[in-house]
Amino acid sequence: MKADVAVIGAGAIGAQAAVQLVERGLDVILIEPGTAGADHAASYGNAAWLSSHSVVPPATPGIWKQLPGWLADPLGPLAVRPTYLPRSASWLWRYLASASTEAKVSAIARDLRALLIDAPHLHAEVAERAGLSHLIDATSGLMHVWPDRAAFQSDAFGWRIRREVGIEWRELDGAEIAVLQPELSRDYRFGIYVSEGGHCRNPGAYVAGLVDYAERRGVRRLRARALGFTQIRGRLTGVETSEGTVACAAAVIAAGARSRPLAALAGDRVPLETERGYHVTVEGDGLPGPAIPVMVGDRKVIVTSLAQGVRCAGQVEIGGLQAAPDWRRAEILRKHLAELVPALDTAGAQIWMGHRPSTPDGRPIIGPASGVEGVIHAFGHGHVGLVGSARTGRLVAELVTDEMPEIDIGGFSPARFSRRANAA
Ligand SMILES: Cc1cc2nc3c(=O)[nH]c(=O)nc-3n(C[C@H](O)[C@H](O)[C@H](O)COP(=O)(O)OP(=O)(O)OC[C@H]3O[C@@H](n4cnc5c(N)ncnc54)[C@H](O)[C@@H]3O)c2cc1C
Repeated sequence: MKADVAVIGAGAIGAQAAVQLVERGLDVILIEPGTAGADHAASYGNAAWLSSHSVVPPATPGIWKQLPGWLADPLGPLAVRPTYLPRSASWLWRYLASASTEAKVSAIARDLRALLIDAPHLHAEVAERAGLSHLIDATSGLMHVWPDRAAFQSDAFGWRIRREVGIEWRELDGAEIAVLQPELSRDYRFGIYVSEGGHCRNPGAYVAGLVDYAERRGVRRLRARALGFTQIRGRLTGVETSEGTVACAAAVIAAGARSRPLAALAGDRVPLETERGYHVTVEGDGLPGPAIPVMVGDRKVIVTSLAQGVRCAGQVEIGGLQAAPDWRRAEILRKHLAELVPALDTAGAQIWMGHRPSTPDGRPIIGPASGVEGVIHAFGHGHVGLVGSARTGRLVAELVTDEMPEIDIGGFSPARFSRRANAA
């Protein structure tokens, strides 16, 4: 097997990269052991937000004070499994350190803003070319709600950072929320509406549809697991897979939460952890649900009406790739959903757990690998992998074809985790 480029992984990131590469006329092989868009991947079960305002990293100054609570409450919205603490300690340390000052968080927000700006429209453009316009709503806007303005104060820091990077929004009182969200519990009397946001109507179908479109344009699928790289004098010659070697001069690592060993083989030891997340989805047509996707501040969940039903997603569990899901977490989400949308019968909700591919500072890793020329990293998008996939795909294609990247990708370099960078 031979191609110009091998893309490893067919989640949202790999799918967008494959589309952009084949549209530039390159011969592409997409290596993926599973079915594109299926439930093994994070891209299937997310909250479907195309939130170009999601620029504040998960860790913010003072968050270290919450560490004891993460360990003490195994079912809290953010929890660390005590048995996994030894393996995740260094990632957690970097997570806390990345947010030790407001200046650090502001710098991360600027980088994420550059990656995410205009994302709903970028998705709409790709979706139109792929015949998937019915799956992208670039103009729905996105809403955040709290019980009252006092409750909002605990999240005010993040909104100040958002304002710094030019994000605008409209505040809502209880009466306005009730008009815009007739199905939402009346317990929410303060809100924010971000008009620049959009959402996807079915993330799994979107990824499957993008891969289908890429195949129609000439991308070949290889149902295999990538295992490593072949090289001559530091220059990539191929990708080794469970089904043989793909000869290629460029390769893209887009294997989501499973990218770390491949990145190490390409010369970059990166702190990549899984932030395990859950969803419940009540499937059906015409169900009561939010008219605008909504993030509920005090419960730390997102509720989105999708093509296939109503989904409530959230939770962060640091517990590794191997441990079985803790379905009590899905039950917590189901209860939230039942309380937030009282008219919805949540009894038969589908449950799911997936792996956010997360770096400690909330920025993905995008850029050339340092050990093997021709390998490009495109993973680690954490909470913003769906929204960030459209521009990431473009950046990957620009890097492979030696074009100037459309944004400064310095902040996404794996080098930020090197010992030298940390010493500085
Ligand atoms: C509960 C939850 C809610 C979320 N909500 C949102 C949201 O609203 N908006 C948003 O933007 N993001 C959200 N996210 C994050 C988003 O889903 C992820 O960041 C994104 O899906 C990551 O995409 P990916 O392509 O990197 O990884 P994945 O979708 O996990 O895909 C990786 C693919 O690589 C394949 N693979 C793995 N190893 C190999 C190998 N060795 N060889 C070949 N293939 C391999 C896998 O089989 C998989 O198909 C959420 C995540 C969760 C869990």
